[in-house]
This record gives sequence, structure tokens and C-alpha cells, in this order.
Amino acid sequence: MTPRTAATWSPDQSAELYGIRNWGGGNYDLNAQGEVTIKVRFPEREVVVSLMEIVAGLEQRGHVMPLLLRIENLLDARITLINETFRAAIRNAGYQGEYRGVFPVKVNQQAQVIEEIVRFGAAYGHGLEAGSKAELVLAMAALPEGGQLILNGYKDRDFIDLGLWATKLGYRCFFVIESPAELPLILERSRLLGIRPLLGVRIKISAKVGGLWTETSGDRSSFGLSTVQLVEVIDSLKQQNYLDCLQLLHCHLGSQIPDLQQIRTGVLEASRFYAGLIADGAPMGYIDFGGGLAVDYTGSQTNHVHSRNYNLADYCNTLVEVVKTTLDPLAIPHPHIVTESGRATVAHTTLLLFNILDILHFEALSLPEQLPAESHALVRQLTGIRETLDSVPLNSSYQDAVSCRDTLRQLFRQGEISLRERSLAENIFLAIAQLISSRLDRLEKIPSGLEELQQNLADIYYGNFSVFQSLPDTWAIDQLFPVMPVHRHTEAPVRQGIISDLTCDCDGKLDNFILGDGESRTLPLHPLKDGEDYLLGVFLMGAYQETMGDLHNLLGDTHVASIRINADGSFDLMREISGDSIADVLSYIEYQPQQLFDTFRAKAELAVRQGKITVAERRQLVEKYSSTLHGYTYFET
Ligand code: PLP
Repeated sequence: MTPRTAATWSPDQSAELYGIRNWGGGNYDLNAQGEVTIKVRFPEREVVVSLMEIVAGLEQRGHVMPLLLRIENLLDARITLINETFRAAIRNAGYQGEYRGVFPVKVNQQAQVIEEIVRFGAAYGHGLEAGSKAELVLAMAALPEGGQLILNGYKDRDFIDLGLWATKLGYRCFFVIESPAELPLILERSRLLGIRPLLGVRIKISAKVGGLWTETSGDRSSFGLSTVQLVEVIDSLKQQNYLDCLQLLHCHLGSQIPDLQQIRTGVLEASRFYAGLIADGAPMGYIDFGGGLAVDYTGSQTNHVHSRNYNLADYCNTLVEVVKTTLDPLAIPHPHIVTESGRATVAHTTLLLFNILDILHFEALSLPEQLPAESHALVRQLTGIRETLDSVPLNSSYQDAVSCRDTLRQLFRQGEISLRERSLAENIFLAIAQLISSRLDRLEKIPSGLEELQQNLADIYYGNFSVFQSLPDTWAIDQLFPVMPVHRHTEAPVRQGIISDLTCDCDGKLDNFILGDGESRTLPLHPLKDGEDYLLGVFLMGAYQETMGDLHNLLGDTHVASIRINADGSFDLMREISGDSIADVLSYIEYQPQQLFDTFRAKAELAVRQGKITVAERRQLVEKYSSTLHGYTYFET
């Protein structure tokens, strides 16, 4: 571990420590003032803006923490990058088909995000993927006719009818058949409405991929047709004169696939299925590889589950090359390539900003010069352990100290030592633990038994946010997102901490972090300064998090600000959403805020009648209740 001293520290050291230049993808960095910056590219130049300047501008407009900040330029840049990189791969390989990407709505369904993807993606014909009726409803409203729609998921009659109407309106709308049971209903509705559908078949790829979503592929995956079912579907389409409608092959190997070789194997298998469908008489024309393009959350460029051992160009080249080299010997025309990249499109755009409310330290208070005369023998033994630390192996000293402390706790439970004696023993124990921990920094290898000591002594920083609302994947699937202070990088982060949220729930915490040299159970942080907010950012969290957050502790949606950075470095606040009020979150769980208010007001009136409060106090109380009811669910300073 790099020793960090307050006297010598530079933003470059912070950049290395937090790994921002590894995971920041060229978008995030630090300036000489020690503030996180965002870089935006314009055709004629690049602009670098400090996040603290953006925060100041938003605070002047009345926004408060916590805040979800979306940088629209970064979303546009990702759409451009994905489309242009595919186009380059297609050009270089002499591939005859086109790239026809779609954004899977489930990855970020927020209206502002979808609007921006549709608006900016129009130049590339970037479409949308809908996996449910509700997603189709919003996709049809957002996407102009002529746009490409991919319909996944199980489809009931209304879903199918709406998709058929979309086809009639001119959308290139593919019904992806996920199970043989769907086909009869699609064909029945098609005949009834007199609209012929564009059909796709989702297949199960037997090649398995690594990462957190490995169950998405393989024989036992829940979605898609087995080879036997696929042949059944083809036969059924032939019998009913619908084979000409089958134009797309779909597969989705899994999300966040870290290893390119596994993608290559899956793409090869899918290409063989494509060739098989052509051989069986289907016209085809499209091959859809679903999602899976990974985000390098750790910045390590490895096949770690939160990273990837390839870049975007490698991904695009692999897809194009494997399809081409599989189909060329069979003289099959190259299909248009569709991908449904979700996280790789939106992750970089959004960051969560929150302030630290308080810190809990695990530090010994100063110890008395001499122990009280009547001190218990075990308390004396603890003192002895502390005094002989240099002559005994650190792990033996620690074990002895834990044993003394635990016996003293037992004696306390039995009423044999006093509260003050226990307090003294705990304090000496903490002092020993801290001394040992400080010595570990100098060792190459942590002695066994002491691996968790530094983590156990780490400060707890209380952050003004909810893990369950804003970062549910960190809790549900141990997803790692880069987290770091957004300012003060001219000062050494001399503390080690974990971050607890506002929910008072033991799972509501961040205690695994990405640093420049790997994962760490603690995060280097700064002490708080009086009268100054300490702001932290969680980066690359634009995918899935907003969609899945629930209402744990009734901490609702945070405020959202969507900005567009201008070429002169200023920014415009393009869109803003006020976070949920307390009345909003209560109404989501079926309370009626007005009724709550009326009930409370009546109680206050009764209290006046009973002489418990004055009329003036009632007014104050009722006003406070009302303003709280309509206020923000988070901690307001
Ligand atoms: N398409 C389908 C069918 C999916 O199930 C998913 C997510 O799991 C995606 C696309 C998006 O995947 P990713 O975010 O990895 O691009």
C-alpha cells in the first residue's frame, strides 16, 4: 500500500490510487485543482469541465445532494462510437451487410434517456428493443415510424397486436419467438388483423460464457429455443405458409461477457444456426447477437467479471469476421448485424453524487498513564501485550488481545467487572489493534489471521443516499462501480473507510472498491472539514441501476439533472427531474397524502382543545408536517 502523508500529495497520485484513468475511458480525469473533470469531444476541439463547477452551477439553480448527474454528450458519444466502430469493422472486412443496433429499453427506461438515444441515434437508424408490453408502448411512442423494433420476452395477445400494428405503421418490428408456445398466437393474431409479421427465432447457444450472467447461455438457459424446438418452429412456419416471414436469428449469450474468446465461440455457433436456417429455406437477412458487450468497470482490461479483455473494436471485428468467414464458404449473403448493447451504451453517462453526513471512527482514546490499582488481571495482561508488541509476532499478539478482550466481555456479562473496566479494556484493545494495523503497512505480506484487521478498523462514512434506491446491483450481485471523492485531490486521503448509506440496514453499504492496483475492502478518503461538503461520486452507473432501485426505507428517486457541455466549457441544464417527495413515495405504497394530512390536522386541533398546544403552535406544527410531506426523502442540509 502506498504510504499517504498529508504533506506530499498530487492529483496524479490520486489518479493512480483510484485508477480513474483506467476506468474513466478518457471521459473522467483530475485537474490541477484536485477536482474530477469530464472531457467532452466536439468536432473541432475537446472541452474539459470540472465536476465541482457543474455541482456549483446546479446548486445555484437550487439542486441539492444526492443527485444523479447525466452527461448527455457522453451518451451521444457512445452511440456514435458503437455505430462508427461497427461501420469501420464492416468496411475493413469487406462485409456486405450493415450494422443495425438497438438499445434494450430495460437497461435504462427513463424517458429522458430513451428520448436522447432515439434523437441522437436517428442518424444511424439506432432502434429499440422491448421485452414487455409496457416497454413496447413507450418504444412506439419514442421511435419514429420506420425505426427498428426488436420484441423479446413472452408475448400475450395485446403485446402481439400492438407489435402487428407497429408493423403496419411502418416500423421494422421483429417478433422474436422465445418459445414454441408463442407461435400459434402470433400467427392467429396475424391472420385476424391481416398483418404479416417479421419473425425472429431466439436460439439457445450451447457454448457457455463466464461472468455473472453465465446462466443466460447453455442448454439450461431459460430463454430461447432448443435445436429440437427450432426445427419444430420451422416446420410449423412451413406448414402455415409463414416461412417467408422468418428473417432474424437472435441469441443473447449473457450480459457483461468478460472474455472475447467466449464471444467468438458463441458467434460461431450462432452463424452456423443462421446457415442452417437458410439451408432450410428461410429468407433470413438479420443476425442479432443481443447484449453482452462488457464495460470495464475496474479498468483492468482483464477477464475479471467486472472487466473485459477486449475493446470495442475487437468486439465489432470479431462479430463481423466470424459471421463472414462462416458464411462465405457457403455462398450465403452477409446478414445485417444487430446488437442490443445496453450497459456499454449507457453506463458511462451517469454518475451519482452524494455528500458525507458523518464519520464513525474506530480509534482508541488516549490511555491512562497508569492503570487503576484495582484493575483486573486480564486488563493488565492487555497492557502487557501492547508494551511487548515489538518482540512478539504480530498475529500472536493480536490473538492474545482478542482472547483477553473476549474473556473480559464474558466477565462483564456475568457482572464480574464494571462498565468502566470494560470500557478501559476495549480502549486498550483498540489501541493494540491500531498499532498492529499501522505496522501491517510496512509488510510485504499480511500475516495470517490479520487479513481483515484493517477493514475492521476502517472508518464508516455515512453517505446521503440509498444503496437500494440508487445502486441496487452492488447489494444484489456484488457489482463493483468506481467510487471516489470528486474533489480535494491535492490533499492526501489519509483515512481508510467504507461507506454506509442512510437506510440503517447492514446491507446498505459499499465495502468493496476499485482502486488503481486492484480491489480493496476499504476506500482511501479525506477527513471532513467544518462547513464544507465532502462529495463522493459513483461512476459508470447508468445501466440497470435507475430501473431496478426500489423504495427501501421510503428513500425515493433522487433529483436528476441532465446537462449538455458546450464547446466553450459552460454547460446547459437540459432536463431536470425533481426526486420523489415524501408524499410521492407514500402514495406508491397506497397511502393518500391528503388524507394523512387531514388526519394529522384534526389531531392537532384536538390537541388544542385538550390544552396540549396553543393555536399558534398548532399552526407551526401543521406547517411543518405539510412542508415535510412535500419535501425530499433524503437528508437535507
Ligand atoms: N438483450 C437481451 C435479450 C438481454 O436480456 C439483455 C440483458 O441481459 C440485453 C440485451 C442487454 O445486455 P447488455 O447490457 O449486456 O448489453
